[in-house]
Amino acid sequence: MARVSFPYSAPVSQTLFDRAAAVTPGGVNSPVRAFRAVGGTPRFMVSGTGPYLTDADGREYVDLVCSWGPMILGHSHPEVIAAVQEAVARGTSFGTPGEGEVALAEEIVARIAPVEQVRLVSSGTEATMSAIRLARGFTGRAKVIKFAGCYHGHVDALLAAAGSGVATLGLPDTPGVTGAQAGDTIVLPYNDLEAVHAAFHANPGEIACVITEASPGNMGVVPPGPGFNEGLKQACAKNGALYISDEVMTGFRTSKAGWFGVDGVTPDLMTFGKVMGGGFPAAAFGGRADVMAYLAPAGPVYQAGTLSGNPVATAAGLAQLRLLDDAAYEKVDAVSLRIRTLVTEALAKEGVAHRLQNASNMFSVFFTDQDVRSYEDAKKQESFRFTAFFHSMLSQGVYLPPSSFESWFVSTAHDERAIERIAAALPAAARAAAEATEEATA
Ligand code: PLP
Repeated sequence: MARVSFPYSAPVSQTLFDRAAAVTPGGVNSPVRAFRAVGGTPRFMVSGTGPYLTDADGREYVDLVCSWGPMILGHSHPEVIAAVQEAVARGTSFGTPGEGEVALAEEIVARIAPVEQVRLVSSGTEATMSAIRLARGFTGRAKVIKFAGCYHGHVDALLAAAGSGVATLGLPDTPGVTGAQAGDTIVLPYNDLEAVHAAFHANPGEIACVITEASPGNMGVVPPGPGFNEGLKQACAKNGALYISDEVMTGFRTSKAGWFGVDGVTPDLMTFGKVMGGGFPAAAFGGRADVMAYLAPAGPVYQAGTLSGNPVATAAGLAQLRLLDDAAYEKVDAVSLRIRTLVTEALAKEGVAHRLQNASNMFSVFFTDQDVRSYEDAKKQESFRFTAFFHSMLSQGVYLPPSSFESWFVSTAHDERAIERIAAALPAAARAAAEATEEATA
């Protein structure tokens, strides 16, 4: 990364990063935040309002990360903040059941038809880990099918060929995951139903579940091809396995009922996170009542959490979900379309080969002239062009995900002023992408 010139410095962020690096591995608490793929100093943010973030050096950015998805109403939405303040004033954790968690569970069940029962947890990782355990407990089988480039959190068994930070950092396999933990995971190419049929054929009566991102956003945005999710569902049904749709990223974002609201394919189990927590740690897994009945204390599969259903997190999530009506999704979709159009026009004008792919309002840019249908395709992009594009946008006050393997996220708060700032930044960024060379970013 050494020869990329960064258009301006961020002295206060740099000082904070140096302090962080002394006490925290790599200076961050989640790898992709470290800017390793794009170089430079990660910005330490101090506040967020609507579509904007302000960093420790006092610079304001239009935020196209939205905390990696959760902030679909923008930052510091007054009604979400009021709900949180009201909840905090009553106490922060009781370790008992509370009405807030019932109300949030009811809201999820009401919105997502396949979810008959739901269990609240604190992170997407916990949700997928627990769903896999439940699927294994329910079926009495061990093996799990996942797809290359799909990320389901840092669950040991699911880190094989994972997307997100694992893809960004180019990690082959993660030390610390034992052969036994990974040995029951079958990794297949995404969008390849033949490979799924072949795996079921080769492992008769052994596969507990297929887990897939409902529409992947962790290798960049790579939507399922026509009939892919339906084909997975049918293959699972035919072979006595459970179909788990991971909607941690797409849930309550790609429509009122997430990706299920888009493709209508009914999973056996689903996982949620991000948007449903309103910016707090809240996540969930749920689905068929007969499967969920296997979960303790109703059934034998153990799962628990000290802060599960936390009253402040559930208040934030519930306030956010109740504000997410049809009009809110129309707004987010329209904002996304505007920005997608601006990005692709700017890149086309500079003659930059690219594919802008979207799954309703989620989208990302691949610097390639080929459609991207799998992780193998995604890895062929010219990521060095993204590096140049990213730093140009950052220097002009637009904050993109610091990786070409991540989705961009927008919110209802992205108004005309924010969109105009993006539009103004794009021509120089597109030029930087056009002029970028692999050597300069090597
Ligand atoms: N599943 C998907 C599809 C995700 O995108 C993520 C996180 O980005 C996770 C699971 C893990 O969620 P968390 O980071 O809350 O553990």
